Amino acid sequence: TKSLVWFRRDLRSFDHAALYQALKHASACYCVFVFDHNILKHLPKRDRRMQFIYQSILELRQELEKLGGGLIVRYGDPVEEIPRLAAQLEVNAVYVNRDYEPTAKARDQAVSTSLASFNCDFISCKDQVIFEMDEVLSLAEKPFSVFTPYKNAWLKKLASETTGEPDFYFKAYPVEKYAAHFAQHTELSLPSMAEMGFETLSAEELKLQGGMAAGAELLDDFLARIDQYGDARDFPAVKGPSYLSVHLRFGTVSIRYLVSQAIRHTRTANSSLGASVWLSELIWRDFYFMILHHHPRVVSQSFKPEYDAIQWENDAHAQVLFQAWCDGKTGYPLVDAAMLQLNQTGYMHNRLRMVVASFLVKDLGIDWRWGEAYFALHLNDFDLSANNGGWQWAASTGCDAQPYFRIFNPITQSEKFDSEGKFIRRYLPQLSGLNARHIHAPWKLTPIELKGANLALGIDYPYPIIEHDVARKKTLERYSVVKKVS
Ligand code: FAD
Repeated sequence: TKSLVWFRRDLRSFDHAALYQALKHASACYCVFVFDHNILKHLPKRDRRMQFIYQSILELRQELEKLGGGLIVRYGDPVEEIPRLAAQLEVNAVYVNRDYEPTAKARDQAVSTSLASFNCDFISCKDQVIFEMDEVLSLAEKPFSVFTPYKNAWLKKLASETTGEPDFYFKAYPVEKYAAHFAQHTELSLPSMAEMGFETLSAEELKLQGGMAAGAELLDDFLARIDQYGDARDFPAVKGPSYLSVHLRFGTVSIRYLVSQAIRHTRTANSSLGASVWLSELIWRDFYFMILHHHPRVVSQSFKPEYDAIQWENDAHAQVLFQAWCDGKTGYPLVDAAMLQLNQTGYMHNRLRMVVASFLVKDLGIDWRWGEAYFALHLNDFDLSANNGGWQWAASTGCDAQPYFRIFNPITQSEKFDSEGKFIRRYLPQLSGLNARHIHAPWKLTPIELKGANLALGIDYPYPIIEHDVARKKTLERYSVVKKVS
């Protein structure tokens, strides 16, 4: 029998569920990737993610060739391209790794229906998470909606010995075992970035490297400092987190391998805390995929429906405030430095994502969906499930046990997590003359102090666009409608 593996957000040739199953069950296995123009047409012409994917595809093709196979690369609508290719190659089945986003599910359903018309199977595998859909349920057999009990049940299931193998859930799929089943690929051409309407960024502009080798390098670098993760991860000026999110997004690293490494490190004496905190972050990732699967309405609505009663600011002034937030011109240094990090690199530190999201929603009174959309366009690691989950968490409309009156103070957050102002100075060099005490709220300085720091407020750096204490009161009023409805 013949099979076709359709790569999507799983751009690797090792530990790959669909590739392994396809090779195991077929005598001739083809591979394909489709640059989906339905997605690409919405992206800016200079897009880091596009280039990351392109680099990853080139490397993937090379690695598949080394194993004896290859990669067919197409540009178009996968709902047409995949059935057409499957018919042309006369394969009996198309294998994919499962996707949990509503539009991807609809696309897969359309492809599956089309394949069925000529008796070609559509087989989907679990690959990008450890536990999916209904695999981790509460005692009442219901999906969880709060993280901590979900995490406890997740860890319990991972450790369960019912399978007889302690590493059962994160064991690698040994693709190379059936490498002899690869079909010979004769199609070698691939569309160029320019043909698909994209410009190529220089390495300096791109600031990240696609592909499996780059993912493995980042992981090695992180594992050497995983024991410090618990303490370091909250401070944006410090190299604390793994920076693996974009690799997880496009599957150039394997979640099973990451979890196996986290578990291995939790078992050593000095790494245990950092590794278990990091494992917890990987569980958050599974959690939000599970939420999106069970509650696809979160894409446009609040997870807690009663929060849809909130009236957000949306007049012309709100547009101006929103633009200032996007451009890093709010006058709150930590918020602005964070937005500049996003605009200049496509990455933003997790602590800062929480700070800027809280600022947009609870200081500026702007709908979380505006911020979510801005992140979706600019984050290298944009993932609908985690982004939506993060925004709804920050807006208190989502899966959070905390009440809505948790409102971050952008100044105290700055004093706590960037106490020396090191991160702020990296992105706002015009504030370099301010000392660690003054840098968090420059408008509080006297004219003499400002002069001493060589800073002209309103010229070099904006005055704050909102007063936090006033905004806080307004937010509490705005959210009070929730109480009335529920
Ligand atoms: P590490 O600290 O090294 O964590 C390891 C991995 O765990 C991450 O790569 C990520 O896959 C996962 N992870 C960590 N925190 C979370 C979390 N809170 N939710 C889900 N998964 C998590 N993460 C994305 O991958 N894509 C997004 O689009 C995204 N949008 C966000 C929006 C907001 C408003 C907030 C508050 C958070 C968002 N996050 C998102 C979660 C988190 O900020 C990033 O995953 C993290 O900063 C990525 O950096 P890292 O790889 O160095 O993380």
